[in-house]
Amino acid sequence: MKKSYQDIEDKRQDGTVWFNDLKRKRESGPKLLDKRYTSYGDATKAVHAGQYDDPQTGALGTPIYQCSTFFLNEASYEAIEEGRGRDEMIYTRYGNPSQWSVQEKISALENAESSIVFGSGMAAISSALLAMLDKGSHVVSSRDIYGGTYNFLYEDLDKFGMSVTFTSPTDIDEIEAAIQENTKVLYFEALTNPLLKITPIKELVALGKKHNLRVIIDNTFLTPYNVKMLDFGVDLVLNSATKYLNGHSDIIGGTVSGSRKLVDRIWPQMLKNGGSMDPHVCFLLERSLKTLALRMKTHNANALELATYLENHPKIKRVYYPGLESHNQYKLAKEQLQGKNSGMVSFEIKGGDANAHALLNNLILPKEATSLGGVESLISLPYNTSQASLTKEQQKAIGINDGLVRLSVGVEDITDLISDLEQAITTIFK
Ligand SMILES: *Cc1c(COP(=O)(O)O)cnc(C)c1O
Repeated sequence: MKKSYQDIEDKRQDGTVWFNDLKRKRESGPKLLDKRYTSYGDATKAVHAGQYDDPQTGALGTPIYQCSTFFLNEASYEAIEEGRGRDEMIYTRYGNPSQWSVQEKISALENAESSIVFGSGMAAISSALLAMLDKGSHVVSSRDIYGGTYNFLYEDLDKFGMSVTFTSPTDIDEIEAAIQENTKVLYFEALTNPLLKITPIKELVALGKKHNLRVIIDNTFLTPYNVKMLDFGVDLVLNSATKYLNGHSDIIGGTVSGSRKLVDRIWPQMLKNGGSMDPHVCFLLERSLKTLALRMKTHNANALELATYLENHPKIKRVYYPGLESHNQYKLAKEQLQGKNSGMVSFEIKGGDANAHALLNNLILPKEATSLGGVESLISLPYNTSQASLTKEQQKAIGINDGLVRLSVGVEDITDLISDLEQAITTIFK
């Protein structure tokens, strides 16, 4: 029998929402198996969540589904017709069991309904932003943002009739003042490069609520092991999986996590932009993630010890580390990072950039290379790498002082790392 309008109104009065709730029921995933290990801790999730042990052969561990396409069947034809392609195996740019498996592990770690893995962090960032914006939209972001993201926001948004304002990531008043009528997104990094400034996430989320904006956070420097951005009420969290998530400096990848509804909006953007993750890379990422908790514990502990050592060294001018009381947001760090801090340490050596170069040359263990989050310590100077496009004056203005060194502290024995720094510094000043 055809329902009358009144029937529907009656239904609304007894609590069933009607018009505003004409939405497709969404499940978490897409997934092969319900394996979130939701009630377990991060180390357990990292090992077990998402893993697809092949029921046909009994092979332990997710097989590498190295294929570009899949046999079509009734279910896939139906899904294509109804625009539900994300939940069926059709074509690897759309989805692949190797992606689903690692996406489930990431969702478990992020406390997310849904995640997508991308071929790079930048693919994740550009797809997520384009999906959340439309013609004429405005974004408020940070002056301390990752260079690739800065270039995308600054150079490319304009081509789509969109715009951006860059603010201090730590000054909520400045962020609020930058909000315009057409602002749609607040885009920030939880911990910035290279000065490890902390974006006050609670306040940022409150600002997003107040002005009806989506809050997107790049959590690459911290990972969901150190802090779960979605638990703070952030709409979407992104990671460059190239860094800590993979942790072995051997793949390029990115992730986006959030509600199924929002992530479903990013998925068609990925289909257009490209940049889905290759199945073999999915395998490497899933394998690496199994030790995420182990690695992060060591990164965090080593970094704190190294930062403390450096702070007490007479030849080191200043150390930037959220676990030190000298960090100008120490209180916020304690609250937001729950004592885990980070595996990154930045510091200024006496004698400026000349001595910073000498330090890099004298060190044996840390590799002089850009990037971060690998098991091996990586060291670089922001002035000629991440912030190289800025003039010396611009660098000074955002706090990139002479002699600044950025160290991604690896999982080597901390005593070895400290001895190496000690010999390298002693050699310079002897
Ligand atoms: C490296 C990095 C990116 C970009 O990731 P790719 O995997 O290199 O594309 C984005 N944000 C931050 C904070 C990064 O460190």
